[in-house]
Amino acid sequence: MKSCIILAGGEGRRIGFRKQFVEIRGKPLFMYSLEKALKLFEEVIVVLPADAVSKVPVPEGVKKVKGGKERQDSVLNALLETEAEIVVIHDAVRPLATEEMFREVADLGDYEGKIVAVPSRDTLKEVSADTVFRTVDRSQIWLSQTPQAFIRKILLECHFRARNEGFFGTDDASLLERYGYKVGVVQGSYWNIKLTYKEDIQFLEKILAKES
Ligand code: C5P
Repeated sequence: MKSCIILAGGEGRRIGFRKQFVEIRGKPLFMYSLEKALKLFEEVIVVLPADAVSKVPVPEGVKKVKGGKERQDSVLNALLETEAEIVVIHDAVRPLATEEMFREVADLGDYEGKIVAVPSRDTLKEVSADTVFRTVDRSQIWLSQTPQAFIRKILLECHFRARNEGFFGTDDASLLERYGYKVGVVQGSYWNIKLTYKEDIQFLEKILAKES
């Protein structure tokens, strides 16, 4: 069985509001990915901030789980609520991830994990205090996105090990890499942005208007 975990448990501390609940065309942002996941996976779990679990309505059959302090804590809470063989993890603030991306990462083949990512197209600079130190060779640099898929037992093991070591990764694949597991890549899209700045909302409104 494959389960999809939609992460919508963040506080949006940097932007100042819970980005996942921003309404776009009358629909909270997290619902865009949730609806795609419902079409594709046998089980769908949505992680919500603790105080939102009883308040936020979700479609029938979707399991709600309480979020944790960090993104990694939220993923672990959800992992403990499923018995699926494969789990697909997705950030609710990336509403433009396509069904094809979900399908392709969930097909793990020989990999223990698989991510959606895009090759870096800009020249990368290492900068400190407004000064450029050097240019990074970008030929092997890819920018990681979600969805990402994993063998649940392996991801769970990595989460426990990371927790014991006090290690926090910015995505789940980084935990598998840390413990020597093989992670594959599926080429994603430059459109699959993560809502990070207020200006991104206008961009998403325009694109999602075309989708619906
Ligand atoms: O904060 P950031 O944009 O990196 O969050 C990525 C995703 O992880 C968002 O969809 C957010 O709601 C979710 N998240 C979570 N629990 C947290 C922090 C973030 O579910 N404690």
